[in-house]
Amino acid sequence: MRFASLGSGSAGNGLIVEEGATRLLLDCGFGLRDVAARLDRLDLSAENLSGILVTHEHDDHAGGVFKFANKYRIPVWLTHGTLTMAERYLPSASSFEMHLIDSHETFAIQDIHIQPFPVPHDAREPVQFTFSNGDRKLGVLTDTGTSTAHIENMLSACDALVLECNHDIDMLMNGPYARPLKQRVNSRLGHLDNTSAATLLSRLDNSRLQHIIAAHLSAKNNLPELARQALSQVLCCDEDWIGIADQVSGFDWRQIL
Ligand SMILES: [Zn+2]
Ligand SMILES: [Zn+2]
Repeated sequence: MRFASLGSGSAGNGLIVEEGATRLLLDCGFGLRDVAARLDRLDLSAENLSGILVTHEHDDHAGGVFKFANKYRIPVWLTHGTLTMAERYLPSASSFEMHLIDSHETFAIQDIHIQPFPVPHDAREPVQFTFSNGDRKLGVLTDTGTSTAHIENMLSACDALVLECNHDIDMLMNGPYARPLKQRVNSRLGHLDNTSAATLLSRLDNSRLQHIIAAHLSAKNNLPELARQALSQVLCCDEDWIGIADQVSGFDWRQIL
């Protein structure tokens, strides 16, 4: 199993998970031409994708999903709440399959087993996912205001993790955002800061961890080195070992052995 990112942050997200000939796109916050260019960087095209999963309705995750799915007839998986809130993006005549998922129920798309789990975030029915080939497990967590026991249970003993490090609290509080936005980002239903991400990480079984990527970094309220510092302290590893999913280029393929 391997994975890569098309880009990560409040201007658009997309993650690819591949097992054999099964390739899933997790979220699509990019326009048609942009997503094609980003796939091309990974030597992929829309025709290679088996399905698209959507975590929640915010533009940076759902904004490009339906147009892309419709153009290339790629099936989409999402919760009822996400569909309700994202309906405004639906094309009038759609030519793709839509699958509603239960936020606690595992399902499979070809060779990949998927476990959704609910997260506290200011969306209707937001979920995040783990992906498994039956042997190795990738956990993904972004867009959560706080951790929960259930989240930690889901992410424990992963072989690879993509973990939100949205902001540094001091940078957010002293930064350019207006006060209501600062409060939203910092709330229980907002985004995970570096220290909270590190605390979450410290509660997991990391004995199998081969890759960890800090994701969804705020362009104005965080720095890659701060995210790296926070996570590397928990794992007692070199800061360079912590990967960064950036907005422009995401990150290149990571193989889970
Ligand atoms: Zn987001
Ligand atoms: Zn969001």
